[in-house]
Amino acid sequence: MEYISTRGKTDPVSASEAIKEGIAPDGGLFLPAKDVNIPVTETMVKMSYQELAAAIIAPYLTDYGPEELLEAANAAYSPEKFDDLAVTPLHKISPSLFSLELWHGPTCAFKDIALQLLPHLLTAAIKKSSEKKSVFILVATSGDTGKAALEGFRDIPGTRIAVFYPDEGVSEIQKRQMVTQEGSNVSVIAVKGNFDDAQSAVKQVFADKSVAAAIEEKGYRFSSANSINWGRLVPQIVYYYRAYIELLKSGAIADGEKINFVVPTGNFGNILAAFYARSAGLPINRLICAANSNNVLTDFIVTGSYNRNRPFIKTISPSMDILISSNLERLLFELTGHDAEAVASWMSELNENGSYTVDEVTGAKIRQLFWSASADDRATIAAIRRYYKEYSYLMDTHTAVAAEVYDRYLAESGDDTKTVIVSTANPYKFNESVAAAVLSPEETAGKDEFELLQLLESETGQKIPAGLKNLDKKKIIHDATIKKGEIRDAILQIIS
Ligand SMILES: *Cc1c(COP(=O)(O)O)cnc(C)c1O
Repeated sequence: MEYISTRGKTDPVSASEAIKEGIAPDGGLFLPAKDVNIPVTETMVKMSYQELAAAIIAPYLTDYGPEELLEAANAAYSPEKFDDLAVTPLHKISPSLFSLELWHGPTCAFKDIALQLLPHLLTAAIKKSSEKKSVFILVATSGDTGKAALEGFRDIPGTRIAVFYPDEGVSEIQKRQMVTQEGSNVSVIAVKGNFDDAQSAVKQVFADKSVAAAIEEKGYRFSSANSINWGRLVPQIVYYYRAYIELLKSGAIADGEKINFVVPTGNFGNILAAFYARSAGLPINRLICAANSNNVLTDFIVTGSYNRNRPFIKTISPSMDILISSNLERLLFELTGHDAEAVASWMSELNENGSYTVDEVTGAKIRQLFWSASADDRATIAAIRRYYKEYSYLMDTHTAVAAEVYDRYLAESGDDTKTVIVSTANPYKFNESVAAAVLSPEETAGKDEFELLQLLESETGQKIPAGLKNLDKKKIIHDATIKKGEIRDAILQIIS
């Protein structure tokens, strides 16, 4: 399988090269040149998650061997990393509604699924090329991605990872998760300022040829773990198949019966993987795109106009606080029948004016497959409370956005197709909001995040996951704080 760029100005490359490069040289995103066909089979029903992952990924990553993929999947999704043998268990909420739990990994959120596998795909890709370099991963994080990348790359031979986080702008739990990070190849450094400060400073260093030359001399090459890398997208196709197979096995659906997925969406990576699963033949009826108050995607799906010129709203579902959904570019390329010229011109309009409008035909195709609505913080809290009361099921804030949007979809469409809510974080990861939803103000008054965890556990009976337990008692390993102008020196010091 060859990989081409959405902007059309890059020669086709192999899968391993697409993963190694991350972004195409013409500024576009890599995707497979041809459609892939993966029917649901009898054999798949008997497979473990790891076996299924290798089988689903193989037709996309054709320059990786089946053994290599299975070995990678076994290492990524081992019982030491995931606290449920199913890896992504499917919870039945009601006879027609299910929750696909993507948060049983080390950091308790869905980015683990991709970031546990990516390091193996990346190091294998480098081995395939003639380059004999180690990978240096640079991450600027506002929270979840940094921790998930640290856990994915820790102690992986041939890799080194440095994560920079803003000292004002991550929650206490997120900070604790990072500064207590173990591993022989990890660095975690606080940068004075907010997320934008840290991110723009890291981007500058990433593009600085003198830094690249200096690390090359020490045997490293820069690489990125961000969500536009095809190596992060392809592992996410697997769990859509897994959910379908689980429904088949339990008798909830008949062979070939279509189902809906509701996906809490930010950068459009998760829901795009569902789109690829559908293109490969998974029987999917509707993809329901759930947004929070940063509802740029909802407006786009409804009207065909993308407009990022609007206030950025800080919500209780912070991983969806995004105004530019990078992965949407891949969807546009697919739905226009690979029209790189149209995509490039929309992306340049987005860059210059902050907005673009797709043609009628493309808009209609989007509306046929996708449905979207948004939920604000109040509706999100109400959904957590409602689902807990009605079904004894505890949801985090991101998942609750999806649940709220599903309830509206059902009321508006009357579509009784069996539906899976894609659950992206453990409720304890966002415990302040969850506690506010299910406990009384008297119970929560004056409690810090760690006390709230204990309280939620004793009130709901749901166990605190290992990744969040005793976080306040763990040893702090990384305590450096630098100014943003000092990132370059910090990197040079790490490699020396
Ligand atoms: C990253 C993230 C999302 C958004 O996923 P996208 O692929 O960016 O659309 C939703 N929920 C949680 C908890 C996340 O960490």
